[in-house]
Amino acid sequence: MKLELDIIPLADWFPGFQKPLLIAGPCSAESEEQMLDTGRQIAAFYPNSIFRAGIWKPRTRPNTFEGIGDIGLKWMKAVKEQTGLLTATEVANAEHVEKCLKAGVDILWIGARTTVNPFSVQDIADALKGVDIPIFVKNPINPDLQLWAGALERVNNAGIKKLAAIHRGFHSFDNSPFRNSPKWELAIELKTACPQLPMICDPSHISGKPELIPYIAQKAMDLDMDGLMIETHNDPSVALSDAKQQVKPFQLKEIIDDINIRSSTIDDPDFRDKLDELRAIIRKLDNDLLELLSKRMAISRQIGEYKRDNSVTILQVAHWKKLFEESLSTGNVLGLPEEFVKGMYQLIHDESIRRQTEVMNFKKNTPGK
Ligand code: PEP
Ligand code: MN
Repeated sequence: MKLELDIIPLADWFPGFQKPLLIAGPCSAESEEQMLDTGRQIAAFYPNSIFRAGIWKPRTRPNTFEGIGDIGLKWMKAVKEQTGLLTATEVANAEHVEKCLKAGVDILWIGARTTVNPFSVQDIADALKGVDIPIFVKNPINPDLQLWAGALERVNNAGIKKLAAIHRGFHSFDNSPFRNSPKWELAIELKTACPQLPMICDPSHISGKPELIPYIAQKAMDLDMDGLMIETHNDPSVALSDAKQQVKPFQLKEIIDDINIRSSTIDDPDFRDKLDELRAIIRKLDNDLLELLSKRMAISRQIGEYKRDNSVTILQVAHWKKLFEESLSTGNVLGLPEEFVKGMYQLIHDESIRRQTEVMNFKKNTPGK
């Protein structure tokens, strides 16, 4: 994927940037007391963080708590004045943008339910023209990288150069321990397409429960992401939204204290040499793998021709099942996790079937050839 964004590096606009850039605060603004108490506790151990709180909440069903509304902006200001923290909130339309700008909110983010809609994103981008404020764009609910990139482009085209992406996971029907499947590969692809784009992970919305937050947060840091957005409430048990996933400020401190920040640059020449050596081995093995796969697919094609000439179906369920099970058990002996072997075999088998289908239908669809 190609993604060209004109971006000011995070370190050039965020005062005293250090990893992780922390964005913490409640899912929703609920009362002035809740905001101030939570903000003060966060500022006490991480004064360089950004205080978050949702003012307008996009909810799936009406007649649930849809955010406290405009009054929350006043409380936001009070948090800023009393704690010195920068403040951030979610905007879903141009009116939200205008109200936030008027109220002096420092950073705005576009939520997952808004990123999916290019009309809404464009409205927000238009409202941001001529404004110098950092904007964070959450990934869309569905795993569509183009939508995420498109929203970033729209905001960037409006002249916003203090831009970052927030990875908050994707809706999935799979059985998974996560509320939103992380699909790390999508965040990695975005980062690869645009390495200068700062990337923030939101472990709260990925995990949906406090227990998994440290694991997700560490993984995000190991993928060289820049920051973390973690929902933090002075008393999650009474939270009006996302009560199950919010942590108390002292838990947030523990999570941050336990994170191991590893360096993304390599200065030591001995370390570099060793790493280059291992990488060269991997490159060679990857080439071997590709050559083997190519050979395997050529045989699949031959099998397809043979099946076609003998009028036999492509899929022989019993044979495929046997092959699959044997491969799982060989993988097991070789120390490869079942999920990994399953996923890999699924891909190989799909491609094999695709090739055989091509061969099978060659004659039928191209008479005379
Ligand atoms: C939120 O941050 O509270 C929120 C609604 O997040 P998302 O847009 O990721 O669902
Ligand atoms: Mn939330």
